[in-house]
Amino acid sequence: MSRPIFARIDPQAFRHNYLLCKQRAAGAKTLAIVKANAYGHGLLCCAEAVRDVADGFGLLEIGEALQLRNAGFTQPIVMLEGFFAEADLLMASEARIQVALHSDAQLGLLEMTELPAPLDVFIKLNTGMQRLGFPPERFAEVLARVRACGRVGEIGVMTHFACADAAGITPQLACFDAAVAGSGLPRSVANSAALLRNPEARYEWVRPGIVLYGGSPMPDLQSAEQIGLRPVMSFFSRIISVQDLQPGDAVGYGGLFVADKPMRIATVACGYADGYPRHAGTGTPILVNGQRTRTIGRVSMDMLCCDITGLEAGVGSLVTLWGEGLPADEVATAAGTVSYELFCALAQRVPVTSC
Ligand SMILES: *Cc1c(COP(=O)(O)O)cnc(C)c1O
Repeated sequence: MSRPIFARIDPQAFRHNYLLCKQRAAGAKTLAIVKANAYGHGLLCCAEAVRDVADGFGLLEIGEALQLRNAGFTQPIVMLEGFFAEADLLMASEARIQVALHSDAQLGLLEMTELPAPLDVFIKLNTGMQRLGFPPERFAEVLARVRACGRVGEIGVMTHFACADAAGITPQLACFDAAVAGSGLPRSVANSAALLRNPEARYEWVRPGIVLYGGSPMPDLQSAEQIGLRPVMSFFSRIISVQDLQPGDAVGYGGLFVADKPMRIATVACGYADGYPRHAGTGTPILVNGQRTRTIGRVSMDMLCCDITGLEAGVGSLVTLWGEGLPADEVATAAGTVSYELFCALAQRVPVTSC
């Protein structure tokens, strides 16, 4: 019998969430953002679930892009950071992978390199996040150079928002609109938060990521359930030990939690080396046999403890770390992070079922 920890991926939930995005996109094309191995869920598993309905995919690495092409996906595939060197520029052009074009280094390389086929690009503008992109005032010049190099096929224009709140995007959107006005190019600006909250920002392509996996982009304002999303990843383990505590007994490394009354606690085979956040302190929600309770003390590498006082539970009981019945957003909030990070951190050593 192996260690009783596992994750389950629900491709039908991914499909449900994608179709919900498409509906919210109201006619805009929907690029499914599947970077970072589909936010830790498995690239091909998720892509397969939407093979017949997906308008396109967005990711980072040429290797992942080619994996999709080789698996027969014919939709647009966009590398959101573009190419990093001549080798991936050539491969992208050959496999008809579209690239974000965000820097002078990339533009220079594009101008210098003979390509096997025209390259599709999304010119990326920096409208205020200060991470990637050309200054908006250079848009006309960059576009002219892209056209003049004679190596480019489809041209789109994109930007990325720094703020998830509905009003927060306004200055960036105004800046983008002013820069690209009249260009007639396909535009892409909306991430999950903007797709849900800013219908004025849908344009031709929306780029939802976290909502496809059932996470809320703004859990303090709207839960995943309120949005109508279903969790795609459920993370489970089992109780491997039970301890009865007397008042004054301290639990785990550092003895951070001290019982103030008689308690029964359980040790669960899941720790930070499995991807459970170490910063999740006492009180983080957790399910034991479907019953909601709280973690106790510090998360260790391979184990964590939870309170089972008064619960129907013992060695072997099923524990839900997050997923079905316990939104990852709640665990993330308790750990001072976001569901994105929990999903991406699911460790290699955790067996995944369903895909
Ligand atoms: C990751 C990413 C997205 C998706 O963001 P979510 O908040 O997960 O919806 C969209 N666009 C770009 C450029 C990204 O890097």
